[in-house]
Amino acid sequence: MNILVLNSGSSSLKYQLLNWDNQEVLAKGLVERIGIEGWMIKHKTLDKSAGNERKKSEIAGNLANHNEALGKVLELIAGIKIDAVGHRVVHGGELFTSSVLITSEVKEQLRKLIPLAPLHQPANLMGIEACEEILPGVPNVAVFDTAFHQTMKPEHYLYALPRELYEKYGIRRYGFHGTSHNYVSHRACEILGLDYAKTRMITCHIGNGGSVTAIQNGEVVDTSLGFTPLEGVIMGTRCGDIDSAILPFLAKNANMSLEDLDTMMNKKSGLLGISGVSSDHREIEEWFLAGKEPETTVMKMYTKGILKYLGAYVAYMNGVDVIVFTAGILENSSLQRKLLMENLWYLGIRLDESKNDFRGEERVISTADSKVTVIVVPTDEELMIAKETAMIVSH
Ligand code: ADP
Repeated sequence: MNILVLNSGSSSLKYQLLNWDNQEVLAKGLVERIGIEGWMIKHKTLDKSAGNERKKSEIAGNLANHNEALGKVLELIAGIKIDAVGHRVVHGGELFTSSVLITSEVKEQLRKLIPLAPLHQPANLMGIEACEEILPGVPNVAVFDTAFHQTMKPEHYLYALPRELYEKYGIRRYGFHGTSHNYVSHRACEILGLDYAKTRMITCHIGNGGSVTAIQNGEVVDTSLGFTPLEGVIMGTRCGDIDSAILPFLAKNANMSLEDLDTMMNKKSGLLGISGVSSDHREIEEWFLAGKEPETTVMKMYTKGILKYLGAYVAYMNGVDVIVFTAGILENSSLQRKLLMENLWYLGIRLDESKNDFRGEERVISTADSKVTVIVVPTDEELMIAKETAMIVSH
């Protein structure tokens, strides 16, 4: 069975075509600048004639919308039959606790969730409708960023705001990066030979976006991203936790509009905002290693933010058995892994320095006598979406 995995953004379309029977990636790529002049597709295919090397191509031109973008992608993968499409959908609200086959009723419900994700949800719907039009008869499955976190209990998902805001507007913690936390937590148990339902885990998805999730009895206890993907740890350009009273203060004293505040918190804060130079962790690291300011303070703040959640989740679960590191920064940065683990000694965790110098591999990095296992598991959201899609269409 060949599964096309699509991740539609407002002006982008990320795709991966997998042969589910052997889990081989047949093609993948990214269309950028849809609806903006000068679009670009970066496309890679598996070339069997060249010993399974990846053939890369870059194409540029103009594409008006997601239908045209998908049409172009399908031209590039012409000749390969597509049996099902798995869509990454950012918001499933409280309605969707797992992946679903997309029907007109499901689409209607997805539309109702647009106010909760005004930038991403319409783009996800555009991707779904483009597939329905261009690939008639091929089943579409929605895999939600939020669904994995739906096991949270009210004491973890409610905010201490007037209760009617939850009832009227659905204001609560939803959590995001669910596909990634789901994948790495299951994969960690598989690698370590542990029973998922009996393992207390904390998964740290730390990339440009970041979130930390606590998992116990096979269910999510709590997660750091909240009502939107802004709360929690410091991110590339997002501020994470702040005192929310800063916002009315700025509105009154700095004459900032709601839109200004939103842009400030989502696009101008985080690593970029405090360093004033870059949202890229690699650059911050370089200056930190050279002992420069403000990068040294930035790295300390960044590390503290993650440790704060780790500590809180250990407390909620009354302990932890496994900590999983994933996503761009924790898969690649030996330094960031070390900085975190230096402060986990109180849990009986020791970093095995001889195993920490690597990028992007599945590897245990805690010493054999550590009381808690720390493992790096590179995330694979596309594989997880394909798995969910295969499961749903096979039933
Ligand atoms: P996204 O949330 O966009 O999927 P990623 O998970 O790809 O983000 O993570 C991107 C982040 O990973 C960037 O901040 C980048 O600097 C960081 N990163 C990638 N490689 C390294 C590395 N070798 N050392 C430190 N940081 C790295």
